[in-house]
Order: sequence, then C-alpha cells, then structure tokens
Amino acid sequence: MGHLAGAYLPSDIYVRYMRLKGEDVLFVCGSDEHGAAITIRAKKEGVSPQEIVDRYDAMCRKSFEEFGIGFDVYHRTSSELHKETASNYFLELLEKDAFEVRESEQYFDEEAQQFLADRYITGTCPKCNHDAAYGDQCENCGSALSPNDLINPKSTLSGNAPIMKTTTHWYLPMQNHEKWLKEWINEGTLDGKPHHNPKEWKNHVVGQCNSWIDGGLQPRAMTRDLDWGVPVPAEGADGKVLYVWLDAPIGYISATKKWAADNGKNWETYWKDEETRMVHFIGKDNIVFHCIIFPILLKAHGDYILPENVPANEFLNLEGQKLSTSRNWAVWLHEYLEDYPDRIDALRYCLTSILPENKDSEFTWKDFQARNNNELVAILGNFVNRAVILTHKYFDGKVPTADFDQVVLEEVKSHYEKVASNLDKFSFRQALADAMNVARIGNKYLADNEPWKTIKTDETAAQKVIATSLVIAEHLKNVIAPFLPNTSDKLAHILNMEAANWNEESTISEGHQLNKAELLFSKFEDEDVEKQVKKLEEASAATQTVELEPAKPETTFDDFQKLDIRIATIIEAEKVRKTKKLLKLKVDTGMDQRTVVSGIAEFYSPEEIIGKQVCLLANLAPRAIKGIESQGMILMAESPDGTLSFVLPNSKIPNGSSIG
Ligand SMILES: [Zn+2]
Repeated sequence: MGHLAGAYLPSDIYVRYMRLKGEDVLFVCGSDEHGAAITIRAKKEGVSPQEIVDRYDAMCRKSFEEFGIGFDVYHRTSSELHKETASNYFLELLEKDAFEVRESEQYFDEEAQQFLADRYITGTCPKCNHDAAYGDQCENCGSALSPNDLINPKSTLSGNAPIMKTTTHWYLPMQNHEKWLKEWINEGTLDGKPHHNPKEWKNHVVGQCNSWIDGGLQPRAMTRDLDWGVPVPAEGADGKVLYVWLDAPIGYISATKKWAADNGKNWETYWKDEETRMVHFIGKDNIVFHCIIFPILLKAHGDYILPENVPANEFLNLEGQKLSTSRNWAVWLHEYLEDYPDRIDALRYCLTSILPENKDSEFTWKDFQARNNNELVAILGNFVNRAVILTHKYFDGKVPTADFDQVVLEEVKSHYEKVASNLDKFSFRQALADAMNVARIGNKYLADNEPWKTIKTDETAAQKVIATSLVIAEHLKNVIAPFLPNTSDKLAHILNMEAANWNEESTISEGHQLNKAELLFSKFEDEDVEKQVKKLEEASAATQTVELEPAKPETTFDDFQKLDIRIATIIEAEKVRKTKKLLKLKVDTGMDQRTVVSGIAEFYSPEEIIGKQVCLLANLAPRAIKGIESQGMILMAESPDGTLSFVLPNSKIPNGSSIG
C-alpha cells in the first residue's frame, strides 16, 4: 500500500487523465531484479535468485492487473533485452569517457572468499546509532550510507568482521556534474536553455537534491563484485556486475524498447525527442536516483532527454506507525483484493484523499471507513442513486426533458478546468476533492429542489430538475474517471452511455433510456475495521524476529562437571521487601534446607511456586543479595523478550537428584 500511495496510484491517475485528453502517453514500469537484497533472500531460502524474482514478478503483475494500474509495459531487469540495453549503455558511456577506473580497498569476507556488496555488510549507523544499518542505507533514519561509514561492520555471510582488500571499479565522477545539476534543478535550465519551470517541482524534492549537491557529490562506483546482475562489459571486469544505481534506471529504457517492439513503435521517440515530457513518479527514498544519478547518466550519454518533473511523494504511515515490510506492518494489495475484490475504487479514493504529496500522511482503517461511508456512499453513491431511481419511478427510466438548468450546469462544467489544473500540478488530493464537489453540487441541487415533492404540483419543474441531475451524473462520470475508473464505467453503464471522456458537452437528450439503478458503493462496517486492524497486528506479531544471545565460546566437559546441579523443592517463598524482582525462597535440596534469593518476582507470585520442584545450582559460592545470604541459584529459561520460566524435571524426582 505504501508504494501504491507513493508512486503507482498518482501515476495511474495522471496517465488516465492524459489519455482522456487524448495525449500520446506511454506508462512504463518494471521491477529492479538485481542487487544484493535478492541474492541475500535467495541464500536465506535456499533457492536461486531467479526463483525469487520470478515469484515477486508474478505477484506484482497480478496485483497491478487486478487493481487496474494500467501500465503499457511492466518490464524486468533480469530479461535479456534489458541486459543487452544496459550493457550497451555502459559501453557507450565508456566510449564517452564518462567513468574513472579506480582501485580501492573494499570489505572482503575471508571465510566466504568474496567481496561484500553494501547489503552484505551491517553495522551501527553513524547518524542514529541503529545497530542493524546496511552498508548502503540505514532503514531506521533513512540516511544513505557507504560501507565505510558503518561502526563495527560485520559480514552477513559469516558474521565475521570483514577485512579490506583491493578491487577495481568503474566510478561515475558525480562531482564533475554539480554545476549543471544545480542550474537544472534550481533554474530549470539545461545547457543555458530553458528546460522546465522549476517552480513546478515540489519543495521537498528540490530541497533534498540541493542538500545532496551542497554536501558535495562524490565519485560513486557503478560496478560491484557480485555474481547476480548484468556483467560489466569491459576488460578486466570478470566477476563484476553493473551496480543497480546504473542498471535499474536503464530499465525504463529497456521497458520502452520492449513495448515498442511489441507494438510496432519507435522507442526513440519517447527518449530522444525534445517534445517528449518525461515524468518520474516515485517515493521520496528514490529522489536522489531520479533527480541526480539517472540525469547524470542521461546527460553523460548526450542523446537522451531529462525528466521534466519528478513529483515524488513522501511516506504513508499505517495505523500510527511507519510502514515496514520487514516487520510486516503493512497492508498488502493482494490480500486487500482477496478480502474486498469489489472495493478497488474505495481504496483508490481513500489513498488519493490522503496521498503524502508534500508531507507524510497516515492510513487508518477507521479513516478508510469514514471516507467510504460518509463520502463515497453518502455523497457520490447517494446522488447518483437518487437521480436514477427518480427517473425510473416517474418517467419509466427515460430522460424526461432536454430543458436543462443551465445555471447549475455551468457551475458543474467549471470543474473540468479545476480538476485538470490540479492534476497538471500533481495536486491529486485537491483534484479529487474538486471532482467530488460535482457530486456534492448534485446532492444539494436535488435537496434544494425536491423533485419528489414538486412532481405533484409542478411536473415541468420536476422534469427539469431530474433531467439536469442526470446531466450532472454524466459529468461526474467524466471527472471521477482518472481517480475511480471502475465507478466511472459502472456509472456509464447505469446511464447507458459511452465511457468517460474529457468533453464538457453533454450527450444526454430527451427520451434517452437509462439502465437499472445499481448501488455504486456499500458501507464498510465496524466489524471490517476491527478485522483488518486485528489482522495487521497478528501478522506483524508473527514476524517479530527473535534476537538470540550470541553463542558463548567453547567450554570443556571438565568445566561443566564442576557445576553441581540438583533437584530441589521450594518449601517457602516470600517477597524481598523494597524490591520488585526478588523472591526469598527456602528450598529442600535433599541434603539440606537452604535460602536462595531469586529474581523471578515479576513472573511468579510466592503462593504459586511453593511445592514446585526446580533445578538448583547448589555449589555456587554464597553471596549476599539485599542483605540476605543466597546459597545457590535456581535455573531459569529466559525468552528473548525477557520472560523467565522454571527449568523443571518432567516427572517428580527425589530431592537431591543430580543433573548432568
Ligand atoms: Zn540511521
């Protein structure tokens, strides 16, 4: 759901709107199937990287298709066409001297005998002290890192601290591109010519770019020592692949080639014609790749256009927490579709209403319910239903007159322009609100004019109001189409009309026959909210990773034999005053009765443990705890969350029996 709100949904809305206006649009997407994250997962599951990417590709494709995200092409970087495209692109950059070849010291795992890609190194984040940051990024604070930044780096392959070893890589000298990037981003000029209006870029996008550039761009290696990816097509590059920073964005080009080949088109029109507008829809974690790195790669090549805008969204939070796929604090699209196959537009509506356009926003099921019930059902659905039912009730489902109320229709028509100008500015939330206002106008128009009453006193007036409401419904079908395509189609069917267009002229005429009324939306009940919140909490709890204590160094049998562990029975127990954790126990060891102080009071009350058999380390040197001499230690199992449980014999055994 996070990616839907970040990129897929706004881009889909924008593309649908462009198509309604008759523009030539190509909607391209794909999966980045290279990189160490995939090889790590494959290793963990004991399968090949190809198997992993095939599985995810099938899942994504199915969800996008069912949800109605209308990509022209959804491509894969593991395809042959992509490998060839990326490889050639690299060679062309090589010919243009775009890289610097450098030797560097890089982390190497001696046990696994391989160089460590960024993702294979974890350590402490220097910015926020998170202790499981990766070599390329800290997922806690979002900082981009390089492996050398990590404190106490460890190899994820062996768990050992890696050593440094010399390797050769092809670097993109990003620092040489600072000047034109600054002009391009801040002034909208490229090679001294106007390129785009910089005021149309979002503040947070420009801000993030400037903070990167002002921090000083560094040369970045565009190759990696890894066995999964596009092999580097250069001499001396055995065992090296293109880094995903270069490989993944070229995926947009190979996707275009794939689409062009399948549809008899020329891919170059979309990448090399200055009339083409390229827009990247992404989340804010991808700004630097689409606004700095990919533009450098395109400009360094020279034949390609640069993006006109990158309207990146911020993050969507979920029920009060950050979305996290690793903690499974997430709503998965395929699961939503299983639960609610008929509520696609409700999710589109809710997400569009709260898109994190300029700051983070939050999805909650309660809010989803409120928007569904109070807006989709009560306003949009209600208006259409009333207009159509009244037509059937009084006029056999035929439009009663062509004498429409022009005043209200002028107001309605002004919304095409409002919706359009907001979509042109990538203000999707406001554009949706404007489209919904057409339904609000319709609802108010019916309520103010009460045709169900006037039908008895002034039939002509009632005819005019009902016919005008149907024209409003027709416009509604058009203006909601980019946001709620399924609802628009359903409405077209009810009205017995063509699918949506961006034409302000109504085609409704007197006598036009409607189809039967159908409900556009249904209520989302409290039980559904509870069910979804519970599902989220359970799924998240199930993936809580267990942080086990590190293994202890080897010990000897002789050392173990030194421990005198015996079965004993607790015969008395009481709380140690002024402490929270301690119980004072008297135990019968078969040999004697002795006092033991044990830190178990948070988990056991004195009453419940009297008579229990326990394991006692009997020859531990006595020590004073809170002024009480403790003569031994009760053995407890400690679970990762700190809960203590007794270690017990599973049948009654005489006190004093030894354990070993
Ligand atoms: Zn951090």
